Amino acid sequence: MKIKVSLAKKLKKRPKDESKLGFGDIFTDHMFAMDYAVGKGWTNPRIVPYRPLRIDPAAMVLHYGQEVFEGLKAYRGKDSGIYLFRARDNFVRLNRSAARLCMPEVEIEVAMDALKKLVLLDKKWVPRTQGTSLYIRPNMIAVEPHLGVRPAKTYLFYIIVGPVGAYYKEGLNPVRIYVEDNYVRAALGGLGNAKTLANYAASLLAAEEAKQKGFTQVLWLDAVQRKFVEEVGTMNMFFVIGDEVITAPLGGTILPGITRDSVIRMVKDWGMKVSERFLSIEEVIASAQDGRLKEAFGTGTAAVISPVGQIAYKGRDYVVAGGKMGDLSQKLYNEIVGIQYAEKPDPYGWREKIG
Ligand SMILES: *Cc1c(COP(=O)(O)O)cnc(C)c1O
Repeated sequence: MKIKVSLAKKLKKRPKDESKLGFGDIFTDHMFAMDYAVGKGWTNPRIVPYRPLRIDPAAMVLHYGQEVFEGLKAYRGKDSGIYLFRARDNFVRLNRSAARLCMPEVEIEVAMDALKKLVLLDKKWVPRTQGTSLYIRPNMIAVEPHLGVRPAKTYLFYIIVGPVGAYYKEGLNPVRIYVEDNYVRAALGGLGNAKTLANYAASLLAAEEAKQKGFTQVLWLDAVQRKFVEEVGTMNMFFVIGDEVITAPLGGTILPGITRDSVIRMVKDWGMKVSERFLSIEEVIASAQDGRLKEAFGTGTAAVISPVGQIAYKGRDYVVAGGKMGDLSQKLYNEIVGIQYAEKPDPYGWREKIG
């Protein structure tokens, strides 16, 4: 498919001070879009100036929530080159999410081509300061104007990109997390393993209440017993208990994170024991109390590794790893970031230089 390019007539001002970049507020000059209709497939792939969408007020996404998205980054290497990290895996996951929401799949090669052309066209926007990157947000929505619950017949797929700084205000300092034993994020058989808007809408109230109590993140427990740890808002969770590195299994209620997968591969290669198993919050607390809980950290594209310094459960606070970033967290962060920014060798073939 040939992508038609219409250039922006007037370019926006790019942020001058990269150290002040936040997350998710600034977007570049262009965006990619294409349309889908049942019977026709995907048509009209185009790069156009970044601008508001025109959709019908009856567009089905606005009423019944058919939407799936992805989040990945382009990195500016030391050599000034521009790199992607496991980008194909994001589109594979997008298609899995889409299937769960009765939405059409995109062709991976078409999506990759679109992504690369867009990033390279707006390449000046890929920031240079350490820790910054160009965040990439592919999104698919149901646009058919129709009231009545069924899968839509028309969709829009688009990609927007924008420069971002460090995800957490605290930087790499350990965060405080609140174990949520009231609200749930996702139940087995639901949408928990799809990257779709409903999961985030479901999480907002718990996150707001936790924030008021001074916590950065909510740690979700399983929806049935409120017993087993699942994941935090936008990150998978790992716990290092004794010499075992533990993360929740991909049973359907958690998002199959690409960073999670990278961490499992690396930690196994380093000869450590990795278990994808159910882990009860009682075991986490007991091991925090008797000193066997060495580290806890979240994993996700935005933050890469986010160490946890404190866990609050049922009104009590438990300190993890002395409230400091653990050795494994630090090593994983260094290795993954080193691969992403082309500062270290990439034995896994995860990095792709695109320009
Ligand atoms: C995106 C996301 C993650 C992390 O996935 P990565 O591919 O590692 O970025 C984890 N949990 C949830 C709920 C997410 O939305």
